[in-house]
Amino acid sequence: MAKFWKPGTEKPRLVEDEDGGVLFFYSTSSSSSSSFGYANNLQQQRQRLPVFKRRDAILFLVENHATTIVVGETGSGKTTQIPQYLNEGGWAESGHVIGCTQPRRLAVQSVASRVAEEMGVKLGEEVGYVIRFEDVTTPGVTRIKFLTDGVLLREMMDDPLLSKYSVIMIDEAHERSISTDIVLGLLKKIQRRRPELRLIISSATIEAKSIASFFRASKKHRGGATKELGPKTEPAIVSVEGRGFTVEINYIQEPVADYLRAAVSTVMLIHKQQTVGDILVFLTGQDDIDAGVQLLNEEAQSSGKSNGELLVLPLYSGLSRAEQDLVFSPTPRGKRKIIISTNIAETSLTLEGIVYVVDSGFSKQRFYDPLSDIENLVVAPISKASARQRAGRAGRVRPGKCFRLYTEEYYVNEMSAEGIPEMQRSNLVSCIIQLKALGIDNILGFGWPSSPSPEAMIRALEVLYSLGVLDDDAKLTSPTGFQVAEIPLDPMLSKALLASNELGCSEEMLTISAVLSVQSIWISVRGAQKQLDEAKLRFAAAEGDHVTFLNVYKGFLESGKSSKWCHKNFINYHAMKKVLETREQLKKTAQRLGIVLKSCDRDIQVIRKAITAGFFANACHLEPYSHEGKYKTVRTSQDVYIHPSSVLFRVNPKWVVYHSLVSTDRRYMRNVVTIDPTWLVEVAPHYYQYQGPGSIATLTR
Ligand code: ADP
Ligand code: MG
Repeated sequence: MAKFWKPGTEKPRLVEDEDGGVLFFYSTSSSSSSSFGYANNLQQQRQRLPVFKRRDAILFLVENHATTIVVGETGSGKTTQIPQYLNEGGWAESGHVIGCTQPRRLAVQSVASRVAEEMGVKLGEEVGYVIRFEDVTTPGVTRIKFLTDGVLLREMMDDPLLSKYSVIMIDEAHERSISTDIVLGLLKKIQRRRPELRLIISSATIEAKSIASFFRASKKHRGGATKELGPKTEPAIVSVEGRGFTVEINYIQEPVADYLRAAVSTVMLIHKQQTVGDILVFLTGQDDIDAGVQLLNEEAQSSGKSNGELLVLPLYSGLSRAEQDLVFSPTPRGKRKIIISTNIAETSLTLEGIVYVVDSGFSKQRFYDPLSDIENLVVAPISKASARQRAGRAGRVRPGKCFRLYTEEYYVNEMSAEGIPEMQRSNLVSCIIQLKALGIDNILGFGWPSSPSPEAMIRALEVLYSLGVLDDDAKLTSPTGFQVAEIPLDPMLSKALLASNELGCSEEMLTISAVLSVQSIWISVRGAQKQLDEAKLRFAAAEGDHVTFLNVYKGFLESGKSSKWCHKNFINYHAMKKVLETREQLKKTAQRLGIVLKSCDRDIQVIRKAITAGFFANACHLEPYSHEGKYKTVRTSQDVYIHPSSVLFRVNPKWVVYHSLVSTDRRYMRNVVTIDPTWLVEVAPHYYQYQGPGSIATLTR
């Protein structure tokens, strides 16, 4: 059983851990406090939010400054209130729209529905949202629009000056997501052309200072017409007071080997020993969150007494609407809610009623290595700034406690102060193609909030050049480059979709693209791997995963889109519904680009060729005499293996192309399809040359 020091006492000496392998925490510092009562209706609740005290100041500053930076603790009302103040202040008159961006799709949906509720309007009318593949707005009616920063980037392609917006609020700027950074860079340019456009940049941390200096206009651009007529170019900064209660921090005494199990035992311990209050657990992604939910439910069952008292809920993007709503609905009497979340609950979403936080110290982060060209979502340690944010979530309604599943020593000495901006750890292919499509040719000289690495930049340019998206002058080609830029998919996949038009299998490629755009269509249940594998076999195609997806999709349609059918086959029903929606959206884009909808009637070969036309750079061949299924990439001669989740795992066909690489203990290819090597030369003669039977090499440029 885990042990804790009594809260509020001095930091104790480290005491020997007798039980072996138990959790042992001690408490240290605490943060500021204030008091706050419950409000009983929405309008009262609104006025009690800390940001309400700054309402007039914010409206005044937005009126007078081109850029206003708002810093305020999570839960102070920035996201839900400021767009409403702007609406009340007249910024949505004469057809103008107030935009508010979020880095995460789930946050977009959630805050939009909250704001619609507060305003007493139907979601999709005065208040709407847009995320990739989902538009819930009514043009001409929608006044407040929530959207991901990625969607805002796409909107700039049709409307480079974003002319329908009067104010754009870039929210969660402290997160420094790649799209946020690009959007900030572009908005700075747009402001020079549209001085009347107002920007609000909001952030949960003081990091806003560096953003302010980014927006401070350089001398060169100061003055002119804007000096006398328009708003001041100097950014204004407002800070909103927090209203957090004291949060007592507890550290684990000895490092834990398995944060998932440690989190589960800590939750059970809190439940047994601590007074009422909901618990928020920070894990990393869907896999460990689902596993955590399952383990906790099992624990609760076996510990008899607490059975039925715990309401364990997951929180990550990709949840259905109903599952999301459960997380936000009040905890039923006599129950304790336990929300197991990704870092979306760190600052993007405010959950009421949380008194205890369990922090694993990890989150899923994107890391890109331009040399191996692998972009991985890996479980990596969080920064001190994140750890502080997570702890803060425990102090919303009354003094709370945070249990860190790492040692204080680790926190003090090893945790980095701040995270690295995503821009500096991402594959830049999509980012560059979008900038090019917006007419920004000097990518290196683009005013980045923080510059990306030259290696990543060069690699991205190479990929785009090989796809025929960029020409020798690094300009978008016409029509391919412009078309690829317009399709909201990874450029290789967009290219495959374009190729499917010529090959007469666009219907199939649309399906495959839609499936590849959702997280996973399979349900993974801990301990049921065998059943999942058997289910997959029912759909498995010898040609590989892409063709398997087509079989699943066909089966789903034939079942009448039945959830029962999905359940029986270990297929995620919500993911399949998402596939349908995504496919619809993609179909519209494809038709706009002149792609003719055509099915190849199961002529699998042309489908594989179309995939090869996009993914030829990812070609690999099986090492002769390799007993363990070792492949070499043609481009770089790296060792790679087929991922165990692929239907071609252990089948090991001679030649394949893969959709993506992940590296864990080895480099694994995910979503693999068999090819005929002669196609490589056929679809990419500028890239490959034939060197005799079974031998293909990349051309050196
Ligand atoms: P910030 O953006 O400053 O972190 P928000 O505007 O997101 O703050 O949240 C302000 C308040 O609105 C929260 O304290 C919470 O009480 C309430 N709130 C926000 N979203 C929801 C929701 N989906 N359901 C219920 N209450 C919500
Ligand atoms: Mg917010």
